[in-house]
Amino acid sequence: GNKSRVTVVGSGSWGSVAAKLIASNILNITSFHDELKMWVFEETLQSGEKLTDAINRTNENVKYLPGIKLGNNVVADPDLDNAVKDANMLVFVTPHQFIDHICKSLVGKLRSDVEAISLIKGMEVKIEGPCLISTFISEQLGINCSVLMGANLANEIAEEKFSEATVGYRDNREIAEQWVQLFSTPYFMVTPVKDVEGVELCGTLKNVVAIAAGFVDGLAMGNNTKAAIMRLGLREMRDFSKLLFSSVEDNTFYESCGVADVITTCFGGRNRKVAEAFAKNGGKRSFDELEVEILQGQKLQGVSTAREVYEVLRHQGWLESFPLFATVHEICISHLPPSAIVNYSKRKPILP
Ligand code: NAD
Ligand code: 13P
Repeated sequence: GNKSRVTVVGSGSWGSVAAKLIASNILNITSFHDELKMWVFEETLQSGEKLTDAINRTNENVKYLPGIKLGNNVVADPDLDNAVKDANMLVFVTPHQFIDHICKSLVGKLRSDVEAISLIKGMEVKIEGPCLISTFISEQLGINCSVLMGANLANEIAEEKFSEATVGYRDNREIAEQWVQLFSTPYFMVTPVKDVEGVELCGTLKNVVAIAAGFVDGLAMGNNTKAAIMRLGLREMRDFSKLLFSSVEDNTFYESCGVADVITTCFGGRNRKVAEAFAKNGGKRSFDELEVEILQGQKLQGVSTAREVYEVLRHQGWLESFPLFATVHEICISHLPPSAIVNYSKRKPILP
């Protein structure tokens, strides 16, 4: 009938948790169809079994979120077109480097009344300038796209440990409330905020700060240094966001998507972990190599985001005003040693 149908596009660790959260809720909301489809980027496991078959057989994402039942109403589908064709609520949650290809292949394949939300932390930089992922999805597919960001390490939410998140929306409060209802559980408290750019940029930029925090950890610089780096990072997040979008609100940085995500990612995230290993190795082993070895198929977003942010800074003539962001990128590409993360004597931010 007219019941709403949800599809989750992506099935990494966070994608799988998003599916679990929504799947538990739609069973109790009469306006939703019980089944939740999850698009899986198909791969063959070491056992020889397809990942999709393993998920549907065990009800667990055995590769990206082992040990966690997703809910019997989650159906994994390796065929993107088939997974999205009946959905009127689409959740985008892939690493940001794949969204361009996914959107291109979805053009003309969606229902006309579809609403989207992006859980993706990253950005696209095109010749015309920076483009938020939600804007990219919106423009490529001609649909409205909200965002959900927050202090949300996937493995902790998978174990139903309490956390918060922020839904960023443009102007339709009713749609925002629908997303809040779809994601909220007693252990996952979601707040809507009318500042889609601010919320998304928080999620995007904190990954760059987490890389910096990882360098500090790898060099065993201690807690005060790490706190200083997190503070400088948060300030650059705010200044960068406000320069790009004058509508961005200061209060957004106090929501889960802001300061809370900086804290959790700088202590417990994958960006931090791989950056720590990079610094411990004195920058002699590349991020690409360490990512494969440490994350086993999961993906880093901070290194590519640092490059994308750097392109924007250079193009706008803002490099001197964002010493932390700029230094992270220059360390990642080995133009500076990891220890440069605390060398600010020559580079002073000029913004208030
Ligand atoms: P992940 O890093 O755990 O897994 C990588 C995913 O990429 C897998 O699903 C894999 O199948 C897929 N993939 C690999 N090659 C692909 C290709 N060519 N095309 C499409 N997909 C491909 O993924 P994740 O953690 O769910 O990350 C998705 C987004 O969610 C990211 O932007 C991330 O920043 C964000 N996020 C993650 C967490 C977390 O704790 N994991 C929390 C909040 C937000
Ligand atoms: P990492 O990708 O660094 O693990 O961060 C996950 C996250 O976004 C937590 O909110």
